[in-house]
Amino acid sequence: MSQTSQEYHLLAATKYTPRANGQKPAPEPMDIERIFGENTFGMAEMKSRLPKNVFKSLLATIEKGEPLQTELADTIALAMKEWAIEKGASHFTHWFQPLTGHTAEKHDSFITPNQGGGAIAEFSGKDLIQGEPDASSFPSGGLRPTFEARGYTAWDPTSPAFIIENEKGSYLAIPTAFASWTGEALDTKIPLLRSMEALNKQALRVLRLFDVKDVGRVYTTVGNEQEYFLIDEEFYYRRPDLDTCGRTLIGAKPPKGQELDDHYFGSIPDRVLACMLEVERELYRLGVPVKTRHNEVAPGQYEIAPIYENANLAADHQQLVMMMLKRMARRYGLVCLLHEKPFAGVNGSGKHNNWSMATDTGHNLLEPGDTPHDNIQFLFFCAAVIRAVYRHQDLLRISVATAGNDHRLGANEAPPAIMSVFLGEQLEHVFEQLKSGPATESKQGGLLGLGVKTLPHLPRHAGDRNRTSPFAFTGNKFEFRAVGSAQSVALPNTVLNLIVAEALDDMATMLEQKLAGKRKTKATFEAAVAEVLAEVSREASPIVFNGDGYSEAWHQEAEKRGLLNLRSTVDALPLLITEKNVKLFEKYGVLSERELHSRHEVMLEQYFTAINIEAETLEMMARTMVLPAAVRYLRELLEVLDEAGEIAVDGVKKTAEEVAHWTNELRKAIDHLIEQNKHAEDSLEANVEHMHAHVIPAMEAVRYAADKLERCVPSNLWPLPTYREMLFVK
Ligand code: ADP
Ligand code: MG
Repeated sequence: MSQTSQEYHLLAATKYTPRANGQKPAPEPMDIERIFGENTFGMAEMKSRLPKNVFKSLLATIEKGEPLQTELADTIALAMKEWAIEKGASHFTHWFQPLTGHTAEKHDSFITPNQGGGAIAEFSGKDLIQGEPDASSFPSGGLRPTFEARGYTAWDPTSPAFIIENEKGSYLAIPTAFASWTGEALDTKIPLLRSMEALNKQALRVLRLFDVKDVGRVYTTVGNEQEYFLIDEEFYYRRPDLDTCGRTLIGAKPPKGQELDDHYFGSIPDRVLACMLEVERELYRLGVPVKTRHNEVAPGQYEIAPIYENANLAADHQQLVMMMLKRMARRYGLVCLLHEKPFAGVNGSGKHNNWSMATDTGHNLLEPGDTPHDNIQFLFFCAAVIRAVYRHQDLLRISVATAGNDHRLGANEAPPAIMSVFLGEQLEHVFEQLKSGPATESKQGGLLGLGVKTLPHLPRHAGDRNRTSPFAFTGNKFEFRAVGSAQSVALPNTVLNLIVAEALDDMATMLEQKLAGKRKTKATFEAAVAEVLAEVSREASPIVFNGDGYSEAWHQEAEKRGLLNLRSTVDALPLLITEKNVKLFEKYGVLSERELHSRHEVMLEQYFTAINIEAETLEMMARTMVLPAAVRYLRELLEVLDEAGEIAVDGVKKTAEEVAHWTNELRKAIDHLIEQNKHAEDSLEANVEHMHAHVIPAMEAVRYAADKLERCVPSNLWPLPTYREMLFVK
């Protein structure tokens, strides 16, 4: 006989024992210094294993972005292979990030059997720098016709290779970029690297204008706060919706909800803590600098955040964080849910993307300085970010547009879909002053009326927190809060780098024009900067908003200001390929028109597929799980009515009527869903529209009836774990 929901509730709560999976027990206490990076082929390892000149040249590639000298590849490959084999690796893989948003790998063994029946370990420079995965099943958005199905992967020496362990063996993973044979990007890494390069170039130009001479390179820094849920695997595998879609498609809200707020920052349950410790240990070994952990707002929800790194490394490491959370959870009988909205009516998950620009001399360009000169440089970079967000609200919105994230944005638990910038009171005040520009110079008698001398001490690591803003200045970095928990952070950061590169480019040009023909002195320079800042802050001021982003008033105000409100993925995606955006991506060499179009198509496809699978899963669950449960209960009730005889059973009749009513409603809703999901338009765009306009509402109707039934069908007949069970068993 199958178990009732109460029985497996009990099982889930009591049964778990940590699974060793062949892993040695964690050394206590965790010696972070010793284990950090031990499973990466990092700097120290390379230095000790490579000839001096080879190491020096590789270092120039990693740190200065100089082209890799391919003739060194054999030497590096040999050292890497020796190291990997010492670590127990038998295979290697080119690890890449196709447009699915996930990572992909195909393993090859180091060992090549030879004809004599023996075997030799082989891994050449060519194996290191280039691979040829069979790429035909990765999304290309029409970039790769099937007759040329091959793509190739190319080693990214700026992200260290690492070892992935398993109880049966280990393999070496080499971070790579993935492109078509025609050289078009098929992954998320290539445009990210290109955007970093574009920003580097423009930021250096600005720094030269500010007479900063010692900086060789500017890179963007990124730190992601990852939210996730952990639930008992017992529940997970009993829910086809979680299993196939990552979120519950039906399920009534629990009686005890998060309104009690007793979970947030509360003490971490033991099993969860054990799991987190193991995740962290494994991430340390992979050189991922995780730093903080805590409970999040919703029950069963947690957060993990690393120390920031350069954007490319951060994006790779973000993938490793997601992978480790998923893998390690299973050792504790848990499943990690990364979906943006696993449970309706309960807070969803996001991934705050902290972003800044840093020089190779260790200076954070968004760190307000101590001197007026530092401050105008800071203001210049800060203004560039604000202008970038203002001009390209559409791109930022698109960079976080997924079917999953649509449940979150604008739902009063995550930032609205309207992009705005939160500066905090002090900094907003400064920008207000900037707007009036040099005109107030004489009046205030301060330096350029910028108020530079009299500037309030700029907020340093301000405690200011406005959780309702999608894009907030938090002391020395901007925090992009609309990013979805399940998505790759590569695209949001590609967009940020690109749009800020453009703003810096334009502002540098403005500055040069204002200085043209003038002798550059402190005074003329600062006057010119003030003029640029005045123009830029006047233009971009509609994007600055310090108030409550959740409020209805803001929606109206934003409309008055002319800000975009792209409520859903379907509203947002068409804007990716506007003339403005095609030109922008092309101008800075981040994506060609063809590449951009291919991404647009892949994003549409992914949206369509996600909703289509959800609709089919829901139909299946409603027909084969919910409906039968309701009918069984109805039969019980009708039997009572049948046999009641002299006994008054009005209550039973009423209950039977209620169950019958929702059963009929459910059946009607299912039929409507089937019809809508079957319907096909003749273009991808139209199908996506249809999903949004008709299939999603049809799913909601099914859910509505099913959730009504969940509230009246006896729990021992209900075939699915409930929210109460999933969220509160830890
Ligand atoms: P909170 O936002 O909760 O106050 P922190 O200030 O510690 O927390 O930062 C959160 C995240 O922001 C961390 O991942 C941290 O590494 C990252 N971060 C801090 N400074 C920068 C920076 N200059 N550039 C990018 N990310 C940063
Ligand atoms: Mg934060």
